Amino acid sequence: MTKLFRVTGIVSIGIALIIVLMELSYNPMRALIAGFFGTVNGLAMIALGDVIKDVNYLKEKLNIYLPGEVNKELPQVTCFKCGFRYDFDYPKCPSCGSSESSKT
Ligand SMILES: [Zn+2]
Repeated sequence: MTKLFRVTGIVSIGIALIIVLMELSYNPMRALIAGFFGTVNGLAMIALGDVIKDVNYLKEKLNIYLPGEVNKELPQVTCFKCGFRYDFDYPKCPSCGSSESSKT
């Protein structure tokens, strides 16, 4: 994910530079505008990638999970009786109370 932003950012700056080089002799104003926005966009993409990386690092470090995100460190088991999925460290199914469960 971070890599994707970084690559997109670098590609964006690259395209901006190519446009500048191609347009400079024909339309210097357009070349400058395209170059400026392309570079800003590229840098923003790279910065965004870094921010996402930092957020992921912090989340891992502090063990924070956003709503809807499953804590992947805890293996899940499925209740035989009702099919409810729960963390393996529960002694019983939180839904129906059965202690029978499968690892899948
Ligand atoms: Zn159950």
